[in-house]
Amino acid sequence: MSILKIESLCKYYGNKKNETKALDGISLEVQTGEFLGIMGSSGSGKSTLLNCVASVIRPTGGQILVNGTDIRSLKGAELSDYRGRQIGYLFQNFELLENLTGRENILLPLALHKYEEKKGEQKLKELAEYLEIQDVLDKFPTQMSGGQKQRLCIARALTVEPKVLLLDEPCSALDVKASAKIEELLKNLKERYTIVIVTHNLAQAKRIADDVAFFQNGRRVETKDAETFWEKPECEETKEFLKG
Ligand code: ADP
Repeated sequence: MSILKIESLCKYYGNKKNETKALDGISLEVQTGEFLGIMGSSGSGKSTLLNCVASVIRPTGGQILVNGTDIRSLKGAELSDYRGRQIGYLFQNFELLENLTGRENILLPLALHKYEEKKGEQKLKELAEYLEIQDVLDKFPTQMSGGQKQRLCIARALTVEPKVLLLDEPCSALDVKASAKIEELLKNLKERYTIVIVTHNLAQAKRIADDVAFFQNGRRVETKDAETFWEKPECEETKEFLKG
């Protein structure tokens, strides 16, 4: 069964006279363990899709099924459990709290979702080793490099062992070296998580994604396994995009 199934998803902004269709009937499925890359030009709806799946914004219409449950039907404690435990979300801009240390930032979701302290500490230890961030745990975000902050954000998204990890342009603000390190990390995460990544970096998507969905104007133009996407894109829009 697909872990994430999106059906006819719409998100409209504005009013009838001046409407932006950020998502205009998107359908797609993600299988457990899949690494899906979402590509498309700026403004094509990629971030809006992740925001809807993370339940940060409410769609205008359509369905988002996670493990068969329509997340639009969730309320109160169930919704908070979904946001806090089932989805790991890395927003486009680093969103670490400046007055908390690395350790406190990572543990924040666990504190909010009332995990046992001992379990949290164990998790923190594992993630810090795995992501090689032991030396920044006691530093504040202003004392960290962009790459360290990004790894910390990934650690925070992973604390709750999410069923789906959503990553919005995880390397866009990083220099080449830090970006390469995050890419290595993503290749390892691929073994353990179901991942949906939004990226404009063609070369990187080519190296890491199993499948690619291409968006334009709030619509999914085509979805292909990565090899076919790069070698034989079908739609003119995709061909144009790949030409750069
Ligand atoms: P992408 O991530 O592909 O660059 P977005 O999902 O950010 O695209 O945006 C898709 C479209 O929706 C754009 O035209 C954008 O201007 C519009 N949009 C996004 N968020 C809002 C908002 N809060 N209010 C109005 N329009 C928005």
